[in-house]
Amino acid sequence: MIEKRQFYINGAWTDPATPNDHNVINPSNEEPCAIISLGGQADTDAAVAAAKAAFPTWMATPPAERIALVEKLKDIYESRSEDMAQAISLEMGAPIAMSRSQQAASGAGHIANFLATAKNFSFAHPHDPNTPGSYILHEPIGVAALITPWNWPMNQVTLKVIAAAVAGCTMVLKPSEESPLSSIVFAEMMDEAGFPAGVFNLVNGDGVGVGSQLSSHPDVDMVSFTGSSRAGKLISKSAADSLKRVSLELGGKGANLIFADADDAAVKRGVLHCMNNSGQSCNAPTRMLVQREIYDKAVETAAAVAQSVKVGPASEDGNHIGPVVNEVQFNKIQDLIQKGIDEGARLVAGGTGRPDGLNRGFYVKPTVFADVNNDMIVAREEIFGPVLSILPFDTEEEGIAIANDTPYGLTDYVQTQDPARAARISRALRAGMVEVNGQSRGAAAPFGGMKQSGNGREGGTWGIEDFIEVKSVSGYDPAA
Ligand code: NAD
Repeated sequence: MIEKRQFYINGAWTDPATPNDHNVINPSNEEPCAIISLGGQADTDAAVAAAKAAFPTWMATPPAERIALVEKLKDIYESRSEDMAQAISLEMGAPIAMSRSQQAASGAGHIANFLATAKNFSFAHPHDPNTPGSYILHEPIGVAALITPWNWPMNQVTLKVIAAAVAGCTMVLKPSEESPLSSIVFAEMMDEAGFPAGVFNLVNGDGVGVGSQLSSHPDVDMVSFTGSSRAGKLISKSAADSLKRVSLELGGKGANLIFADADDAAVKRGVLHCMNNSGQSCNAPTRMLVQREIYDKAVETAAAVAQSVKVGPASEDGNHIGPVVNEVQFNKIQDLIQKGIDEGARLVAGGTGRPDGLNRGFYVKPTVFADVNNDMIVAREEIFGPVLSILPFDTEEEGIAIANDTPYGLTDYVQTQDPARAARISRALRAGMVEVNGQSRGAAAPFGGMKQSGNGREGGTWGIEDFIEVKSVSGYDPAA
């Protein structure tokens, strides 16, 4: 059993002020796999105090020195990528091959992308050549609380920590209590890289405890949060009293518009993308909107692809999908599948219950509903499991209307061979990201949503700007 009860505060591994053990459950077998501590107010206060004390010096540290520490971190992260992949796989159930190639790799990718962006980031520049002495300084916001979910643990942690560090913020990271092990490995890396004491702090805890202590803390200047819309609303409310800046990356219910002229692989690609990470991705294309001419064929293909998706334990090699993260999620997904059946959606693959031969572990059958209408619960709620809803549409206008008829607006997808239509639809979709014909977001492209999917943008220049205040100085002499 792994025992990792300490927090990383002010450059040292520190015992919790009051012991409060918490079992981390391996979702592949429902057995405890690690013991951590859940922090309390005293731990939160100590971490925030350390970050506050470290801020003036870190803010004044030249960006090139901050970037040099991130360079060191990059090498350490790469040398420990297997430790990272194993930790993620164990804590949240990503199959080990996928944990290596996608989960751990996403962290390495973000570190590299931020390094490239940071080297060209302009921290100070003239405002307007016609107004001599009018200068813009990009300065860190201050102490940032970083609250992250369990579904892509290192993806979220690196998007926040590296951007905050480059910007000159000091920080307290509170990872999900479901996936603390990867963040503990990450904190070891930050320590080894030599970030000054107090710049980066890690306190484990749950949402009602450390999470809300951070979001209401008077000495925290900003909260960067990724997680559910439910928690995003609570965090915004508790941050309001101290008027903190709140950057939110929340849920999604992505539409994937497949037109009659789409390429042959479009349906298969959409199903596999939806099922990847056992459906636990905020940007998953979970509503497949198919033009009537190819609807029946698309349903048949989608069912066959879902039936071919294998499910198995995270520790087994192979390209199967793993369990979902925990019992609460498992039960919620089962309930939503049953609601889809009850509401009259046509089940063409999967359904309730565990896949054959898997009696223990939070395994869900890859499930596809056809003949869904956009008012059904399976079309409206983020299920966060391997469950796809297929909806028919006739015209482009109708497709756009269905796609936009959701409280969310994170990532939508368009499949058509007609470039003019692809461009038109990309402009009409109310989502922070649109991917056309399977082309993934570019490196360092901004990740974030509209509407109830949030208000922040992570990655690249936008990701650094999320942690920045803009200071306007007049009568400034940059040479002085
Ligand atoms: P969650 O909201 O339950 O928890 C996320 C984090 O917030 C955890 O660290 C949790 O402890 C903390 N938290 C919970 N309640 C809190 C509160 N009241 N105050 C402060 N902190 C609190 O979400 P989850 O179940 O861990 O993650 C799944 C959700 O995350 C999904 O809705 C998914 O779509 C979303 N997500 C969004 C993005 C994005 O970038 N848009 C990326 C990944 C996941």
